[in-house]
Amino acid sequence: MSAVVDLDGVTFSYGDSVAVRDVSLTIGSGEFLGLVGPNGSGKTTLLHLMLGLHSPDSGSIELFGQPVEEFDQGERIGYVSQQSTNRGGTMPVTVREAVTMGRFAHAGRSRLSDEDGEIVEQALETVGITDLADRRINQLSGGQRQRAYIARAVASEADLLALDEPTVGVDAESRDAFYRLLDSLNDRGITIVLIEHDIGVVTDRAERIACINTELFHHGDTESFVESDALEEAYGSTGRVVHHHH
Ligand code: ADP
Repeated sequence: MSAVVDLDGVTFSYGDSVAVRDVSLTIGSGEFLGLVGPNGSGKTTLLHLMLGLHSPDSGSIELFGQPVEEFDQGERIGYVSQQSTNRGGTMPVTVREAVTMGRFAHAGRSRLSDEDGEIVEQALETVGITDLADRRINQLSGGQRQRAYIARAVASEADLLALDEPTVGVDAESRDAFYRLLDSLNDRGITIVLIEHDIGVVTDRAERIACINTELFHHGDTESFVESDALEEAYGSTGRVVHHHH
């Protein structure tokens, strides 16, 4: 299994407070990794490091076998940030236009073929938003908007989907449907990294778990995580705060 993400001894601080300390982990192609830990434990920071949105203070990061600082295949990554669900949004374009942009990112041409157009329609259908195709992204609900971002990633043939608490503010029914969609994308071979507050949701779906509180408390298969004390230890740990008192 080739590595999609490879972190080796990664440490990152905001000013002089350490958010991620000495984390090493590898995410294999096709894996579904759940990233869990208490509030403020460094989950979002770690995801940002993986995607090259922060530079580590020390350690190294590779994306698809390329040093992250040189990585230039952004179309391979779909990222649904916490902000993706905010009202307002940034794009005064329709859902179909946004998904078409994803196809442009993959095709790298200024003109799309009929087949590209079909791929866009298929991506809308896969994600279940064909009926929203002509709506503006900034007029969608949070859950609908997440689906639009995912359709765009599907159209760009992204093979890594990174999601940061994608179902905050989404009702239970839509949430279940959303997670079924993630499962089906993972079945198609898309690697998934999911930050999710609800531990049960993660352990039901992810095949591997990374449990962090500044440091990594567990990285391995979900079964061994459930049987371990890693969760209690991570939640019981006061994380970096304890280090300030020493
Ligand atoms: P999580 O996603 O697990 O809630 P974060 O990665 O967002 O955790 O945050 C980890 C720690 O880093 C927290 O203590 C948080 O307050 C701090 N932090 C996050 N973002 C910033 C920032 N932009 N500037 C300073 N500190 C930050």
